[in-house]
Amino acid sequence: SLAMNDVLKVNQALATTFHPLVIEPLYIVTYLTILFIINWELTLISILIIPITSLFIAIISKSIRRKVIRVQTQLGEITSRFTELISGIRIIKAFVNEENEQKRFGGEAHKLYRLMFRQIMLQSLSLPVTEMLGVTMAVILLWIGGVQVLEYGTISSSDFLRFIIILFAIYQPIRNLAKVNINIQTGVAAGSRVFEVLDIEPAIKDESNSHALTGFDKEIRFDDVTFIYDNSELQAIKNLNTVIRKGEVVALVGPSGAGKTTVVDLIPRFHDINVGSISIDGHDIRQLTRSSIREQIGIVSQETILFNDTVYNNISYGMESNPSQVEEAARRANAHEFISELEEQYDTMLGEHGARLSGGQKQRIAIARALLKDPAILILDEATSALDTESEKAVQSAIDTLMKDRTVIVIAHRLSTILSADKILVMDHGEIVEQGNHKTLSEAGGLYEKLYRLQFATETKEKP
Ligand code: ADP
Repeated sequence: SLAMNDVLKVNQALATTFHPLVIEPLYIVTYLTILFIINWELTLISILIIPITSLFIAIISKSIRRKVIRVQTQLGEITSRFTELISGIRIIKAFVNEENEQKRFGGEAHKLYRLMFRQIMLQSLSLPVTEMLGVTMAVILLWIGGVQVLEYGTISSSDFLRFIIILFAIYQPIRNLAKVNINIQTGVAAGSRVFEVLDIEPAIKDESNSHALTGFDKEIRFDDVTFIYDNSELQAIKNLNTVIRKGEVVALVGPSGAGKTTVVDLIPRFHDINVGSISIDGHDIRQLTRSSIREQIGIVSQETILFNDTVYNNISYGMESNPSQVEEAARRANAHEFISELEEQYDTMLGEHGARLSGGQKQRIAIARALLKDPAILILDEATSALDTESEKAVQSAIDTLMKDRTVIVIAHRLSTILSADKILVMDHGEIVEQGNHKTLSEAGGLYEKLYRLQFATETKEKP
């Protein structure tokens, strides 16, 4: 809503006000000069109206701005509510909550209607009031002028007639300026909302003395890392120490909320840490440019993010590549076969969030994307949702290809992953409570052993 409605309002204000703001004052100045030449005393009386009208316009302008902000805010609310309703439509239907949602949306829409009504009412009021003030002034002038002509003869009747005609002519430009004022106030209000967002300083910035990471040779090191989310008081990560060496596969396991996602988000600097340091090959990542770190990292998340674009553009997202490289990546990700069966192969549009593909197919597109990027460091959040056995095999073998010869940090949900990991970090409440490999950890009889029995060992029974 902000990006569309408010920006449009600023655009309209700029487009409609510029011309009258230049032209109308010219008219006013010209007419006033003529009035002064005809009779300066009467002119002085007639411009007495200026401070009165200005005061009125200032008051009304402020009120219009406030009302516009309320309308635009409510428009934003309604837009986000609408998006939420459309994307959650399955849940609404499943919980048979259509009627309640309709009522709620009706209420929001009615609120918008009332706010808009008030805004329009005020706007419509501003013109007649200015006009009334003008007409009152004209009547007073007619009276004073009439007395001067008829009783004292200080101004000739023809001059007085000219005076009155020009005085009425000055009226149109003033009216136009008052109309323009409404547009200006709307534009200023919408603009203030837009700039509030544009002026936000990003929390994570490249320092002026930061340098680029040119490659990855040795290790990623966490030294006493503590991290608290901005909107929370809880330490999501507490005094975390670990080293991930080049070529290692490190599996993160732990109950939900333990901090696994947070740990992997810290490496590409999606958040900056509060205490301690994270370094790559000895360089503190806060001294490295974000883009250079992210160039070394490939991310395959649990939820596959695809854009409403072609298969080709989804695989080569953010990279420069040629068709043979894209096809090669798709083949290695076991995706080429199903892509070839799509209507327009690599040129097929995927629909919103890749709506036209199955879960396993989406994952393989995401894996192809990571393979094409060929990063030194791979961050993998294994999908928890079960796929059918056929897709599962295809996805797993694609992941195996992707992990080969790379440093991998994986949030593990599969037994095969933890069994083959070089190192397992067991997390709980933001801390690493145990680390080691499968053999040592299961013998230790701690949290890992418990998790393994609950979460992973069942897999062996299901899929012997
Ligand atoms: P895991 O991946 O192990 O399930 P997370 O890293 O997602 O755990 O979460 C660790 C902790 O940080 C949790 O207590 C969670 O509530 C909190 N947390 C996660 N993301 C945010 C966020 N964006 N803002 C505030 N707290 C968060």
